Amino acid sequence: MPARTKDHYRTLGVPESAGPGEIKKAYLRLAKKCHPDANPDDPRAADKFKRVSEAYTVLSDKKKRAQYDMVRKYGGLGGLGGRGGPRPGGAGRGGAGPGAGNGGFGGLGDIFSSIFDFGRKDKPGPSHTRGRNVEYLVEIPFKTAARGGKVVVNIPLHEECAQCHGNGATPGTGMKSCQECRGEGNITFGQGSFGVSRPCPDCVGRGKIPESPCAACNGGGQVRQERKLRVTVPSGVTEGDRVRLAGKGERGSGGKPPGDIIIKFSVRGDRFFKRDGLDLHCDVKVNMAQAVVGSKIRVRTVDGSKVVLRIPPGTQTGRRFRIKGAGVARGGGRGDQVVRVAVETPELSAEAREKIGDILQEEGLRR
Ligand SMILES: [Zn+2]
Ligand SMILES: [Zn+2]
Repeated sequence: MPARTKDHYRTLGVPESAGPGEIKKAYLRLAKKCHPDANPDDPRAADKFKRVSEAYTVLSDKKKRAQYDMVRKYGGLGGLGGRGGPRPGGAGRGGAGPGAGNGGFGGLGDIFSSIFDFGRKDKPGPSHTRGRNVEYLVEIPFKTAARGGKVVVNIPLHEECAQCHGNGATPGTGMKSCQECRGEGNITFGQGSFGVSRPCPDCVGRGKIPESPCAACNGGGQVRQERKLRVTVPSGVTEGDRVRLAGKGERGSGGKPPGDIIIKFSVRGDRFFKRDGLDLHCDVKVNMAQAVVGSKIRVRTVDGSKVVLRIPPGTQTGRRFRIKGAGVARGGGRGDQVVRVAVETPELSAEAREKIGDILQEEGLRR
């Protein structure tokens, strides 16, 4: 998935002050327009449709919208998880979830779930045999990605309300027909052969809404839970890699087995190391004397130890040295650490400059 900023207001083309009616109207219009079934020749339609659905999922829910608004104002859309200043290449990265283990904003995983669960072949609704799979973006430190490790994440899940068992009605009260879809549970977008039926956003495809909404879930039939998980990060993961935690997702309704949690990793940058496949690149400064006469320097590796590197006499700036096996391990392979030396030229006193000048002249190097 390309990096992009998710601006739900922009996606729906509504102002920040838009009311629920305006948001819904914009959503229905766009969902109809960019539904992939109505745009078979446009490969981007599915993506657009998904974004529109995501935007609606967030903006139509009072709590999610409030949370989203806060984050949007707080630090811009690119920096949701990061607190440590600008990240290289990270400015436009949208929707990063809570930073791994730093207790960042909870609940942003919501942004990644869609009421339509788009892309699955099975139909949404009560015919689901399992709970929903939940994909969750986790930002991890550079070193954890390179070496592997564990991160703790709090994943928001929406599960069937235990009070009303998911029907959204106060126990002992009944249901009435949904007005939006006239009790059908679906709304049809488009016409003729392009007509596409989708679950009604008001009753979430049930066709019925409770006469007296359940107090525990406000009539939605679902409650939001946080699941705290320790996630094992395999050594060598890169941006966008996923791990699947089978059976850790949302409980299925009516006691059906849970879905999976899919953790998608986003890797923070590092000030010292840059990654290139399995190799790690870094820059190290040496002074002029070290470069001229040769030296041994100590270089940090990604596992936290230090390795002695021999700088031969006459080393030029920009020269690269390879520390075998000090790179990233992944799938049986292991990269190297590539150290690029930069020679620092000192500012010397007039006397010292003269001496060096003399030496260079003796060596036939002075111009
Ligand atoms: Zn309930
Ligand atoms: Zn309805």
